[in-house]
Order: sequence, then structure tokens, then C-alpha cells
Amino acid sequence: MQRLHLIITGTVQGVGFRPFIFRLAGRLSLTGWVRNQPAGVEIEIEGRATAVADFIAAIHREKPVLAQISNVRTRAIPLQRTPGFTIRPSLMSVVSPAAPPAPDIAICRHCRQDIADGANRRYRHAFANCTNCGPRYTITKTLPYDRTATTMAEFPMCRDCQTEYRNPLNRRFHAQPTACPACGPQYRLLDHNGQALGAGSDVFLQTRRLIKNGSLIALKGLGGYQLVCDAYRNDSVELLRRRKRRKDKPLAVMAGSVQALERLCLLSAAEAALLSGPASPIVLLAKRPDCPLAAAVAPESPQLGVMLPYTPAHCLLLQPADIFVMTSGNDSSNPIIYQDDAALRDLRRIADYFLVHNRPIYRPADDSVARMVAGQPYVLRRSRGFTPEAQYFPQPLPPMLACGGESKNTFCLSSGNNAYLSSHIGDLKNLSTYQYYTASIEDLKRLLTIEPQLIAHDLHPEYFSTKYAREQNLPQIAVQHHHAHIAAVMAEHSLNQPVIGAAFDGLGLGDDATLWGGEFLVASADSYRRAAHCAYLPLPGGDKAVSEPWRMGLVILNRLFGPDLSKVKLPAIAALPDDWPLIVQMIAGGLNCPLTSSAGRLFDAAAALLGLRTVNHYEGQSAMSLEWLAGQTAGRVLPYTIQDSPVSVLDFLPAYRQMVQMIARDEALPFIAASFHDTIAAASVKMITRISQDTGLTSVVLSGGVFQNIRLLTTMSDLLKQNKLTVYTASRIPPNDAGLALGQTLIASASYGRL
Ligand SMILES: [Zn+2]
Ligand SMILES: [Zn+2]
Repeated sequence: MQRLHLIITGTVQGVGFRPFIFRLAGRLSLTGWVRNQPAGVEIEIEGRATAVADFIAAIHREKPVLAQISNVRTRAIPLQRTPGFTIRPSLMSVVSPAAPPAPDIAICRHCRQDIADGANRRYRHAFANCTNCGPRYTITKTLPYDRTATTMAEFPMCRDCQTEYRNPLNRRFHAQPTACPACGPQYRLLDHNGQALGAGSDVFLQTRRLIKNGSLIALKGLGGYQLVCDAYRNDSVELLRRRKRRKDKPLAVMAGSVQALERLCLLSAAEAALLSGPASPIVLLAKRPDCPLAAAVAPESPQLGVMLPYTPAHCLLLQPADIFVMTSGNDSSNPIIYQDDAALRDLRRIADYFLVHNRPIYRPADDSVARMVAGQPYVLRRSRGFTPEAQYFPQPLPPMLACGGESKNTFCLSSGNNAYLSSHIGDLKNLSTYQYYTASIEDLKRLLTIEPQLIAHDLHPEYFSTKYAREQNLPQIAVQHHHAHIAAVMAEHSLNQPVIGAAFDGLGLGDDATLWGGEFLVASADSYRRAAHCAYLPLPGGDKAVSEPWRMGLVILNRLFGPDLSKVKLPAIAALPDDWPLIVQMIAGGLNCPLTSSAGRLFDAAAALLGLRTVNHYEGQSAMSLEWLAGQTAGRVLPYTIQDSPVSVLDFLPAYRQMVQMIARDEALPFIAASFHDTIAAASVKMITRISQDTGLTSVVLSGGVFQNIRLLTTMSDLLKQNKLTVYTASRIPPNDAGLALGQTLIASASYGRL
């Protein structure tokens, strides 16, 4: 006989772990108890030594689908010979952040069946959930995770729900947010002025009719409000765009079924699995050429962001053939709205009706966005379904806060072996987003009980995240932007040896006070060396050149032909704004023309030369147009030069010269766009293989926002692999600035010892 005390850490609360332990103990005839405590799950188990050993093996082998075990600590304790096995109340004193709540999980197959079954007591119940699915992070006020610590505390369970909750053999055993029509929250349909038009399960049919008739609906969902309209009605979609002030950035849609989706998009088995998995993000798919949706949903784009119903309410609202636009409930640049009073106040301008419920959302979470690349998920926006999943660090981290970047901001709190990257915050230049940022930092500090002893921030002094860091009275570490991009991928893959990192993005401040963005670094966790970069170009008007890509096109034309462009035969010149000669003077005088080695701006320049865009309505639009134009067209590598000095410089001016000639000869634009992509890829790979020969390093990291360009990413990955190099990219952490905070965490923790 033997009695053991166990502490299990990881994602073990709110995922059906205690019921699992209870059933396992019963099966092996073991006695003792289990309870949640702040560090994780605590167990005492007693019985024959072989059964106890089987018990521990089975914990790892049979754990619930959503559980992730970081560690199991065991020690022998004296026998107690008490009968039975019990689930004890949670231990409340919070001392450790080891057990955060699970992410919010999409409705499971069984709950879906329950709400569709006329004989089930949860038939058409919009809040059905169980230990395998339902809200978690967005309803949790404090830890440990228990019903009383969630926004479900105000809904006392009815007798039937209590019986299920207490029955270890039931799927809803200790499912904290469990509810039914008798005791759970309710949906209500409100008109424009907040007057109730109906309540209960009938409102979904009523709302669907309104949508089909062209109305715009504000739907209170899982992590915030969503704006909904019929994706087949161009009038509704255009009305939504006008009211939301969103010009042509693609909108995501939700499909009532996979079959309905297949009429819109090409769908692989892996993409279908990502779409319907526990996180159920928006997945970017290739549009069918004959996609029947309203043109205004995703104008120009060969892709469509799609999702499947992930809450019971979505399942009740959409019939199998329906396709609804479903986009964040906000004014274009503000954070997602999740509080009812704010929704009724601020979304009135946009929505005709409100479909609301009375379960408070404690903290918001936007829909996440991902795509499949080379068989792996590639997360571009990480929120619902992913946060607050921890990134495990083999080396213990000091309690610290990494403040992230500026646009697409996220921050990261860490302690022990875990780093918690926040949900998508947004662009901190927007005041309400900045307020959301500071409030989110306080919220997560409190929830995870992490009091930072150290703060990491970007090198850029003007980022609002840097200014926030400077206001905190803590030791600070400034981290170079592109080093952080590379380190984010190193952290995700637990790489602890130096790597060659290609960090391609828009702009980030370099350690020489210029704006970097086409960088080849030899990087480790605590240091980096800039081995090479793209040639410097002036950025006329600074940030203005980012939103007006024609300026970068003009920079290239100016380099190639000088100030007089009258002899150059190029349609793009006719499209330049009238004041372009002023910009040429600015370039000549170096006036408000900071230098940049940005790879993102190279794509802008190419798009401008091809006459694709003069102005961007949303970030990265012209670069995306170029990628879409290239499509799968085979290209040819154009000339470029590499200047070797202590730091090598890649210059693409010869490629642009050739592109101008190709345009003048009326060569096909998709071929020119494809050739530009292939040139950037081939030149970058050549640079990386040289660095590899010089250093002996064979691990390559590709990171930064430019690698959202999948053609570039896959071409470079394939070429690098042909050169016997090992390629690492982001997967569950975004490759763009939303991943910076994780990289800052790795770098600052590695430097911490030296402070
Ligand atoms: Zn379920
Ligand atoms: Zn009930």
C-alpha cells in the first residue's frame, strides 16, 4: 500500500481534469481526493503500489483533450486508510499563477447535438457547454477557476443542472459555466433604441429573417460584439462598410456549414480541421473563381477569411446554407466592444438591431485569424481560442512585462517557466486602444498574480508602449525590433543555439538610429550582429510613405532616371499625384527623408511601379496586391547586387530597372510581379547561405510582417531547405508585430542576469 501527494501544473483547470481524476481513481480502486489549488491540481491517492503507478501513467496517457500538463510533482506521505475518493472544494488563497484558465473553446460535437435534438432539455439553448467546450477566459474574473469566480456566478444552477454537475459520469460534471433554459442566461432581440422585440430561443429565427431582409445586426457573442449581415447582399455589405467606415479591407464571413463554405472556397482537410478545431479561428482560404458572395465582402482579394459557428448562438442563428459577414463590433480602428452599455451607445450608428444576452463578458477577445502554410497553422492574429495559452520556457523567467510594439500590439507577462502573450490589442496610436492596453496589462497582472520586477520594451522611444514602460518604476531593457522578431520564433521553438535570422517587415528602429526592416541577423537570445541588410532608401515624408506607396515608387524612379521623368515610358508616372516634383526635391535635399532598409517598402515600390496602388487604405494593402497579382505564376530571377563590406548590402535597383523595361515592353504584369518575388527570395537565400558558410550556422529563422506574404515565405523556405538549412517560422505566435512581446521576453530574460 502507498499514499502519494501530487501537484499537477499546466492547463489543468476548467478542462475536466478533476472529473477525469475522479473516474480514473474509481477505475483503479484508489482512495483519496482531488482539488484545484492556485498552482494547479492537487491530488492525494492511496492504494496498491501497482495501481498507483498505473494511475500516474494513465494521467499522461488519458488526460482530457484540452488539458496540457507542464509538470507532475509527487511525494510519498503516510497512509490514511479513509474510504472513497472525493472532489474537494478549491483552495482559494492565490499565491501562484501556475494555473490560468483555459482559452475559450468552440462548441463541441455533443453540445451541438444537444441543442439540435427536440427531445433534449437543452434544445435550442444558446448557452449549452460542457467540460469539453464553452467560455473560459472571457468569463473568468479570478483564479482558481470555479463557477463563483466567473460571470456565471449570478446564474444559480437549477436542480437538473446541479445533478449533472455532481455526477462524475456526466459530461457536465464540474463544468463551471453549465446552464440550461431553466437557469441559464438568455438572448434578447432589441431594436435600434434598445426596446425589446423578443426573448428566448425564438429570437434567432426572428433575427435571421431581419438579416435576410438586409438589416445589420450587432450580435453579442463570446468575446465581444460582432456586426452581422447577409454576405450574399451587396447592399447590406456596402451599408456596413459605409457605417463602419471600412473602405475595402476584406471582411470575414461565417458559414452555416462546411458544405456552404465549399461553394465559396477551396478547402483542404487540414484547413477544415483548423476551422472546426477547439480554437475555431477565422481561416484564410483561396476563393473559388465563381464565389457567389457579394463583391463588397472582399474586393480584389483572391482570399476569403471564413469561420464556422463556434458558439451555440451562432449554430442557432445560421442555417446550413447561410453565409453571414461577421466582423468585430467596433468603429474601424477602436478595440472590440464587449460591454452592453457601450454597445448600445456606440454601435447604434452601425446596427439596426441588437441581439444581446445577459451573461457579462468579463474580458474581450477578438476572433483569431490563421491560415495553413505547408501543413502547419500560421496564426496571424492571436486572440480567442488561443489566449491565455502559455508559451513554455525551459529556463525560468523573472516576473516581467514585455510591452510589445506599437501597431498590432500585444504584451507579454511571464513568470516561472511560462510566458503569457496577451490577446490582440491593436494600434496604440489610437487613444481608446491605448487605454484598453493599460487596462489589459492591469487585468492580466491581477488574474495571473504576476507583479513584474523587470520591463522590456522596443528600442523606439516614440512607441506608446515604450512610453508606458518608461513610466513604470522598474528596471528596463530596450530590445531592438528585429532581434525581437527573430527571438519570438526562437522562443516558440525553444531554440537555444545561435541562428541566422531574416527579419523582414515595415519599419523598426535600428541600433544606428536608421529605420530597419530588411535585416539578416546572426542572433542568439542575448545578442545579435547585423550581418547584412537591404540597401538604404529614403522614405519621403516618413510614415506618409507607408500609407502612400507611390512615394517609394518615385524613390526608385528617381534613382534610376534622375529628377526628369518625361522620357520614361511608364503608366505609373501618369498616375502620380501632381505634386510629385516636390517629393523629388525633398529626396534631393534629404528633407524629411529618413533612411530605411525596409523590405516592406521594396514591395510597395514594386506595386507602385506596376501601377497597382498609389494609396493604401489599410496596412500592407499594396504589398498584398502585388502578392495576389503574382499568384502562382512562374517568375524569373532578375539581377541584383551584393556589396560586401563588414556588413553586406543587398541592392535591388538592377531588378527595378529591368522591371521598368519589362513594363515598357508590355510583358505580362503577373509575370513581372512573380519575378520580383522570386528575386527577393533568391537574393535573400543567397545572402543567408553566405552567412551560413561564414559562421557555420545552419538554423534559419524567417520572421516579421513581410512573411505574411506566403509566396515569399514558401519560396524562401523551399530554397533554404534545398541548401540543407533548417528553417523555423512562427506558427502559433504571429510572425508580425503581434509576436514582438514574446521575443522581448526571451531577450530581456537572457540579459537580466547581466543587469
Ligand atoms: Zn460541449
Ligand atoms: Zn439548469
